[in-house]
Amino acid sequence: MNRLHLIAGAVAAACALHVAHAQTTAKGAEPATVQANQAFSKTLPWSDERAFDDARRGFIAAVPGGKIEGKGQVPAWNMGAYAFLEKDQAPDTVNPSLWRQGRLNAINGLFKVSDGIYQLRGMDLSNMTVIEGKTGLIIIDPLLTAETARAGLELYYQNRPRKPVKTVIYTHSHADHFGGVKGVISEEDVKAGRVKVYAPEGFMDHAVAENVIAGNAMSRRATYQFGSLLPPGERGGVDAGLGKNLARGTLTLIAPTNYVNEKTRKLTLDGVDIEFMMAPGSEAPSEMMMYFPQHKVFDAAEVVTHNMHNLYTLRGAEVRDAVAWSRYIDAARLKFGDRAEVMIAQHHWPTWGTDRVDEMMRKQRDLYKFTHDQAVRLLNEGYKPDQIAETLKLPESQQATWSSHGYYGTLRHNARAIYQKYLGWYDANPAHLDPLPEVQEAKKQVEYMGGADAVIERARKDYAAGQYRWVASVMNQVVFADPSNKAARELGADAMEQLGYQSEAGTWRSAYLTGAQELRSGVPKLPSLNTLNDDTLRALSTGLFLDYLGVRLNADKAAGKHLVLNWDFTDTREKFVLNLENSALTYSEGRADPKADASFTLTRATLNEVILGKTTFPEVIKAGKAKVQGDPRKLGELMGMLDTFPASFPIVEPLQ
Ligand SMILES: [Zn+2]
Repeated sequence: MNRLHLIAGAVAAACALHVAHAQTTAKGAEPATVQANQAFSKTLPWSDERAFDDARRGFIAAVPGGKIEGKGQVPAWNMGAYAFLEKDQAPDTVNPSLWRQGRLNAINGLFKVSDGIYQLRGMDLSNMTVIEGKTGLIIIDPLLTAETARAGLELYYQNRPRKPVKTVIYTHSHADHFGGVKGVISEEDVKAGRVKVYAPEGFMDHAVAENVIAGNAMSRRATYQFGSLLPPGERGGVDAGLGKNLARGTLTLIAPTNYVNEKTRKLTLDGVDIEFMMAPGSEAPSEMMMYFPQHKVFDAAEVVTHNMHNLYTLRGAEVRDAVAWSRYIDAARLKFGDRAEVMIAQHHWPTWGTDRVDEMMRKQRDLYKFTHDQAVRLLNEGYKPDQIAETLKLPESQQATWSSHGYYGTLRHNARAIYQKYLGWYDANPAHLDPLPEVQEAKKQVEYMGGADAVIERARKDYAAGQYRWVASVMNQVVFADPSNKAARELGADAMEQLGYQSEAGTWRSAYLTGAQELRSGVPKLPSLNTLNDDTLRALSTGLFLDYLGVRLNADKAAGKHLVLNWDFTDTREKFVLNLENSALTYSEGRADPKADASFTLTRATLNEVILGKTTFPEVIKAGKAKVQGDPRKLGELMGMLDTFPASFPIVEPLQ
C-alpha cells in the first residue's frame, strides 16, 4: 500500500465525526443480494480450511481487547470493533468470501513462526516480523504507526527475552512498512551506531516521492479504498482485504543506514544469515524479499500475499508491472522454494510446508501473468477495457485457490489497468475523444430519457429486479444533472450499498459503501491536513519539493508574470534557479542566475520549518535565518499564486 499522503488522509478522515452517522442509515440486504451471495458461496472452495490453521498456528498472546491507545481519544488500533466477525456464517450484507478473509485477518497477536522468528499480526494493516539474533533483535517492517509498532514490540517482550532492537529492515517503500519505526528504535540509537537500518536500493527516493505530486487526490480517494469513514460492522467496514484497516497514529521515518542493492545479496546480521532478492517495480518501486537459510523461512515481503494484489490501486496510482511481478515470484521460487519450509509475508498469515509454498508461489506467479497476457490478448483482438473486465474469468484452478481471490486487487480492475498501461485512457473511438463534460452530458441524457422523475421511476423497477450496476450508473447521471435530487441520491445510494454487500473485494465494498454514505450525507468535512511531518519532509528532495510547488501554481494568477528566484541551501550545498514564465514553474539545478529578481540563502532545514508552518518567510528573514538579495516581495508574489488543495472534494456528485 501505500502512501504518505493517502495514509495521512485516511487517518484524518477516520477522525472526522461522520462515522457514527452511517450505521443508522445503512440498509439490509435485498433479496437479489442474498441470492447473489448464496450463489457465489457455492463456487468457493470451502473444504480447504488450512488458512485458519495457518493463521492460528504458533499463537502466543494478544493485546487484551485488541485495543492500542493513540495520541488523542481515537485509539490507534481497535480490533475489538471487529468482534462481530466471530460468527462463522457470513451475514446477508457481506460477501461470504470477504467475510472469510475478514475473519482470517482478525486473528491477531504474537505468533511463533519458527525457532527465533516471530510475527505480530493483526495489530495494524501490515505485519511486523521479529528475528532473534545472538545479541539483539532484527525487526522487519515496523508497521504504519509508532503506537502500533511500540505495542507490538511490548507484546513480544512480555513473552520473550528483552533483547534490544539492533537492526530494522524495511522490505519496501510503502508507509505501512516503515511508518512505525520510532516505536521500536530512536534516531539517537541510529546516529550513535547502536542500530542499523537496512532497506532496498531506492527506498528513500520512493518512500515519499510516490505520493507527493498527486497526493491530495490520492488521500481523498483512499478514504474510498479503505472505507476509513465507515464504521466497522456487518453493514459497514469488514476488511480491506490486505488487513483490517490503517492504524490511526503517528507516522515516522528514519533513513536507512545501509542499502541492499545486489541482485541477491547475502548478509549475516547478528548471527542471522539472510539472502536477499530484489524485486523493484513489483508491488512497490523499491522492494526486496529475503530468505533465512538457518530457519528455512522465506519472507515474500508484499510480493506474495493471500490475495490477488493491485496492479492498479483504487486510490489512484501508476499501473504496476504485472510481468516483472510474476518473474520475481518465479525467480524467488526457483532460488528459495525448495529450501523454504515456511513462507511468511508482511501481510496475512504464513504458509507451511515446502510443497504448499511452491504451490502458492506458482499460483501467484501465474495469477499476474494470466491477467497481463489475457488482457493484452483481448485488447489486441479489439476489446475495450469494460469488455475485457467483463470477459475475463480466472481458470478453475485459480478459482479453487483462496489466495488467488481478489480481496484487495480484483481481476476486473486489474484487467482494465493492463489496457491503461499499454493504450492509455483513449479507446480510439472518436465518439469518446471529446464528449461533453460529465454534468452537461448528464443533463442531456436525463432530458432525452424524459426527465429525472421518469428515469427514477424506471430505475426503481430495475432496482427491484436487482439491476444494481445499472441503477447506480443511471442514478449517477440524474445526480450529476441535479445534485439536489434527493430521490436520485437515495436510490443511487441504495444500489451502491447492495453492490458493496455483494463485493468480494474489501476495496470494492469500501468504495461502494463510502459512495452510498456520501450520496446520503454529502461530502464529509475533513480536517485540513499538513500531510508532511518532520520525518517525511526531510526525506523529500528539494527538486521534488519544487515540482510540488509547480503543480500548485494557479495558471490564471500567474498569467503574464515572469519571476526568477535563486536558492542557495547552505546545509545541503544545493543551488536552484526557480523560473516562472508562461504560467509554468520550472527550475534548474547547480547554478545561480545573475539577473534573478531575488536570491535566498538559507538552510534546507529552515525551509522545512516554513513548509511545516512552524514559521514564515518574513519571520526567518527577520531572524536572520535567511539572507535575501534583491526584492523579497517577489517570493510573496509567487506564494500568492499557489493553490491550497482542499482536504475533501466531491466524488459521487459534481464539483461545484
Ligand atoms: Zn503493505
